[in-house]
Amino acid sequence: MDLKTFVANETVLYELSHAMNSDTFPHAIIIDGAAGTGKKTLADIIARYCVCLSDGEKPCGHCPGCLKALHGTHTDIFIADGNTPGALAIDAIRKIRSDAYIVPNEAPKKVYEILDCDKIQAAAQNALLKILEEPPKNVVFVLTVTSANMLLQTVRSRSRIYTLYPPAPEQAAQFLRELYPDKDSEELLSAARLTDGNIGKAIQTIESGSEEAKALADEIMAAVTTKREYDLLLLTSRLSAGREFASSVLDFMLEDVGECIRASVGLPTNLKAAQDIAAKLSPKRVYKLADNIENAKNVLKSNVNLNFFGTWLCAVLKSVVSG
Ligand SMILES: [Zn+2]
Repeated sequence: MDLKTFVANETVLYELSHAMNSDTFPHAIIIDGAAGTGKKTLADIIARYCVCLSDGEKPCGHCPGCLKALHGTHTDIFIADGNTPGALAIDAIRKIRSDAYIVPNEAPKKVYEILDCDKIQAAAQNALLKILEEPPKNVVFVLTVTSANMLLQTVRSRSRIYTLYPPAPEQAAQFLRELYPDKDSEELLSAARLTDGNIGKAIQTIESGSEEAKALADEIMAAVTTKREYDLLLLTSRLSAGREFASSVLDFMLEDVGECIRASVGLPTNLKAAQDIAAKLSPKRVYKLADNIENAKNVLKSNVNLNFFGTWLCAVLKSVVSG
């Protein structure tokens, strides 16, 4: 991701891209905004800009500098995260301060990402202030915080402040569609609306749904050969929670069947249910299971009643195992 694909308020994007194309890139930046607005993502883009070796537009995304940054192995990018105990303590900041006077290893600029500064102590800020007042050449500090007002006025006055706001839900949904091309477009829009366009929170909502779907898929697969029909039904009836959720459970079940197929030809698998199924069903039945789950995905796309769908799927799965 670079500035062109980063979704944020136009002013920030305009000012930042202007700074990136001028010779006067600020040596201290504060990015503020609510959780989920992309502060860390933007800090990372700025860090890549600083270490990019391209003669053209930066960050280019493919020079050795950008690649090392993307892999988290660039020696001129230093990250201190306020969520790690002690990372922003006065001693840690003093260490950053003395390190900043050492010239960059290989990049045009050295970057210090000082993240989640909401709880940084005044003494630590004062230690940082000394270097912000007389910054060494080719060093950029990027601080992220929920609100710049939580930092000392003296720190703020030495920094360029960029404030992030969530985009309109429709714009956030557009971004989510690119991130999740396989997911239902309407469901993504509703996640974006639910979170008022806050992309980070929308991703959290979508991902936690995925975790739940994965867990249920594994449970269903484990129950297919080991549990009574009634117990399996209790699990498949949970698919009535939503069409997108049910579809995602089926996708995870298909992945599990893939594991069963691996197990049935003797390849290693970490999924216990896959080993169980492979031990109990012939490879032919395992393939039939896959066909039936594929078919269930098609049934789900038609306007089938979701309560009925769970019952139907339970019967189908049981018939493959026993029939
Ligand atoms: Zn580059």
